[in-house]
Amino acid sequence: RLARLRARLTKSNNMFSKGLLVLLSQDSIDEDVWDEIEETLLLADLGTEPTLELVDALRERVKVEGSRDPQRVKAMLREELLKLVDPSLDRSYLPEPHPDRPSIIMVVGVNGVGKTTTIGKMARVLVAEDKDVLLGAADTFRAAAAEQLATWGDRVGVPTVRSDIDGADPASVAFEAVSAGIEQEVDIVMIDTAGRLQNKVGLMDELGKIKRVVEKKATVDEVLLVLDATTGQNGLAQAKVFSEVVNVSGIVLTKLDGTAKGGIVVAIQRQLGVPVKLVGLGEGPDDLAPFDPEAFVDALLE
Ligand code: GDP
Repeated sequence: RLARLRARLTKSNNMFSKGLLVLLSQDSIDEDVWDEIEETLLLADLGTEPTLELVDALRERVKVEGSRDPQRVKAMLREELLKLVDPSLDRSYLPEPHPDRPSIIMVVGVNGVGKTTTIGKMARVLVAEDKDVLLGAADTFRAAAAEQLATWGDRVGVPTVRSDIDGADPASVAFEAVSAGIEQEVDIVMIDTAGRLQNKVGLMDELGKIKRVVEKKATVDEVLLVLDATTGQNGLAQAKVFSEVVNVSGIVLTKLDGTAKGGIVVAIQRQLGVPVKLVGLGEGPDDLAPFDPEAFVDALLE
């Protein structure tokens, strides 16, 4: 399964690496080549600052070592990319279990980025690890959202708490879900939320209220922000708004299967100071993987 995911990731990113490796394998790396390397990294959505930093560091190393051997330069590039991705960050996406109550995970993000799908996939992984999971459908704004979450719940065999009333108060649904989770002594409650970005104040009120109301019962352990990798720098702006509204503890980057812009991982982490913890690699129930910096950089360069 890992090999399959890796192959997909490689497929999604090899535009990035092919360009770079062709450039790096030339006999002499002149100014034009460095410019092109910069451009390639920028096109992969690495972000301006990280790109300039990386290229400067690489230039310096090439100068100091005096080696133009493509394999050597590639190894240096790998090291510099890995530094940017920062393997030292804590990427555990599961909170430490509590002895007396479920862990609470809130999932936030703009509509359509893949929140509901991610919750479904995560629930499946957790069930496979023998965890008891309960889902809360606090995205009450979109009529189909609760239905979609419940369908995922049925699919992976976990209960979903939802409201029968269209447009019900999201905070009260979240509260009900956490209450049910405590009563049923489940291990993890995952709460789906709405993401209407048109109105920042409204969003802030809604997410803030969900958190406050839930925390009458139990502290929210993890707030996962879901971002769509295909939206590139635009996703970055969204991420910023959400991180101003709630205390984001981790990022799930979805739809990496549909983009050559894997560099967005670096840009997001840098902007938010929050690690990418999981990546979405397709629409199916198995298409979710923990983010592995080494494998990610290797895939970029394969
Ligand atoms: P939500 O509005 O944030 O809850 O988004 P959904 O979970 O409804 O997902 C929106 C669309 O994106 C659906 O068609 C999903 O199947 C699709 N999707 C979600 N995650 C991924 C992914 O990792 N890769 C691909 N290719 N599609 C995804």
